[in-house]
Amino acid sequence: MFSGKSEELLRRVRRALIAKKDVQVFKPHLDDRYGGVFRISSHDGTELEAHPVTTSVQIAEKVRDEIDVVAIDEAQFLDNDIVGVVNDIADRGVRVIVAATDMDFRGEPFGPIPRLLAIAERIDKLHAICVVCSDLATRNQRLIDGEPAPAEEPTIQVGGAESYEARCRKCHDVPLRTRHQTELAMRGAASVPIPHSSAPTLE
Ligand code: ZN
Repeated sequence: MFSGKSEELLRRVRRALIAKKDVQVFKPHLDDRYGGVFRISSHDGTELEAHPVTTSVQIAEKVRDEIDVVAIDEAQFLDNDIVGVVNDIADRGVRVIVAATDMDFRGEPFGPIPRLLAIAERIDKLHAICVVCSDLATRNQRLIDGEPAPAEEPTIQVGGAESYEARCRKCHDVPLRTRHQTELAMRGAASVPIPHSSAPTLE
């Protein structure tokens, strides 16, 4: 989310445009606030018009016959059909660039992204900086009223009051709702050890 994915997508799109390639950009929109074509923007102010889609099949329907490059931003919000759709487009000789968050707020693989990673010819993992310890951040910490969101929260929230922080594996916290509620009830009371779901360590 804070790793510069959209900027990197735009950088590649910009270079393709300089090379006089025909480019189409797609971006899922989670609600109906945007009609027609809207703009994909990055933190450095660069903007490019993107086609808003709600389903993967809409990308297949909207891709022009003689297209050179197809770029898709925020692909984790699309359905599982995106895997077959981008595979079919790539089989036509089209270069497909996909930017996505690979893990959800729980630190688990996000929707169709693991399968996209498997079929991609090239993968670049971008990292943000952990806001807690300044190490490389690989996770998105969801916060609700400043507190870590419980694991039972929905994977995709639309227009909610939650916020996100970039965090590393060590600083990422996803309490179970039962533990979360127990802690709230016990706040200020005598402490009893509560089992924490410690983050797994890859070796
Ligand atoms: Zn950290």
